Amino acid sequence: MLDLVLYNGNVLTQANTSVADAVGVRDGRVARVGSTSDVLQCAGPATRRIDLAGRTLVPGFHDAHAHIWKIGHLLTTMLDLRSTRSVRDVRDRVRAFGAALPNGSWLLGRGYNEALFEEGRPPTLADLDAACPDRPVVLTRTCGHIYAVNSFALQRAGIGPDTPAPVGGSVERDEQGQLTGLLHETAMGLINKVMPPPTSADYEAMIAAALRHQLSLGITSSADCGVSPALLDVYRDLDARDGLPSRVNVMPFRRVDGVRDPLPLPEQRVSPMLRVDTVKFLADGGLSGATAALSVPYRHTDQQGVLRFDEAELRSLCRESHDAGWRIAIHAIGDVAIDQVLNIYESLGRHPKGYRHRIEHFGLPDAAQLARAFRLGVIAAPQTIFIHSLGRNFRNYLPDSLLPRTYPVRAMLDAGLSVALSSDAPVVEDDNPLVGMMAAVTRLDNEGFPIAPEQAITVKEALYGYTMGGAIATGDDATRGSIEPGKWADLAVLSANPLTCAPQTLRDLRVDMTLMAGRVAFER
Ligand SMILES: [Zn+2]
Repeated sequence: MLDLVLYNGNVLTQANTSVADAVGVRDGRVARVGSTSDVLQCAGPATRRIDLAGRTLVPGFHDAHAHIWKIGHLLTTMLDLRSTRSVRDVRDRVRAFGAALPNGSWLLGRGYNEALFEEGRPPTLADLDAACPDRPVVLTRTCGHIYAVNSFALQRAGIGPDTPAPVGGSVERDEQGQLTGLLHETAMGLINKVMPPPTSADYEAMIAAALRHQLSLGITSSADCGVSPALLDVYRDLDARDGLPSRVNVMPFRRVDGVRDPLPLPEQRVSPMLRVDTVKFLADGGLSGATAALSVPYRHTDQQGVLRFDEAELRSLCRESHDAGWRIAIHAIGDVAIDQVLNIYESLGRHPKGYRHRIEHFGLPDAAQLARAFRLGVIAAPQTIFIHSLGRNFRNYLPDSLLPRTYPVRAMLDAGLSVALSSDAPVVEDDNPLVGMMAAVTRLDNEGFPIAPEQAITVKEALYGYTMGGAIATGDDATRGSIEPGKWADLAVLSANPLTCAPQTLRDLRVDMTLMAGRVAFER
């Protein structure tokens, strides 16, 4: 007998079955997919029945690349600056937030984006010293690749005018050679070394807040792409206590900014709720902050971004991970970084477990790189939601030769690549998968400008990328990603059909209900 029947709906299974309007669930898994009359026939007196009343049922969304603990940090104790639109605004909020913090604690904020600021520049040392001189202030830029800090923080870290930048990073100075308080890429590690780390209880609160938030968006499988050993322990512990409300793919780091030696490979773990078998590396910086490694200079600067690794070092860390049976996910946005990663993946040869490695973001590949990635079986994990949220940065920073191939998802699919869509939250403020789908289809940014419009994909392809695409990327496609008998009943009820609504209205669809293993985990 079935535990649950969802009937009278429009079921977008993402599998090769014909159209269905009902789903039956038993023991947390999909047991039947078919017509309302067929499925209700298998219901008994104890079966819960949910009338979808014509609404649409989709597999729970996969956010293949996110930073769960950072989402949660912003939802708990961190100052959220993603809605600021001027340096003045940042100063005011830092001042107010600092005034409410206990003595001695650090002020951590995240999400400023100078491309959106009236002043057209990031906050500097002078701004932050004026707003909060009496405690360390560390603001992470929206991309996560740049810190803006105050003098207190520089002093704590022992950073002076003559401090050299570590390899793969830079300590910014003005024309007079004075520190500006901006630290790029691996130079952030100078601060991280002295910043008090979150406690296990802090991490648990962050994870709980983030997963609750994601469930409200219909996200049933997500990722924490790049975690420390301490955070990994918290995840293992939560999983052992049945404390994870949704499924998480946790990717440990091998190399942490500010730490000289690489981290050892941890133990793998694959349970229904937690997967730990992918290691994460960053080959370059971010596009929105102009630190991704390009073959040509960014607009209005002579900079070409940074490679964070010497190729030989990255190759040896990847070789060791690959041979030990790990999947590898490397952040590579600029074409120079993509070449580096493809060279390395090519050198690795066949995976001992048949795993396919991933390229995260994959922002600016050319046709030859896509063909090579396909040949190597690489999985692409791009973020179409960046088109929506970061279009202005792309238009400001990218040379005309590269703008037409920004996040080229059409070209990725045409090259035969398996594509997992995702948000990279909290890099974007709005991590709603429906917004990511909307941007994938319209290619319009949030100011109405088109970004590489010829790279548009269909709603059907975008929905697949946010469901099966994510499941394939983690190797979970046998149990997730589509609504088929035997798979987990991780489901989302949408207020309308994304395939028939006008694409620019996709973001107006509501997630009315999210189910994890057949249990209601969120309800509007
Ligand atoms: Zn990321």
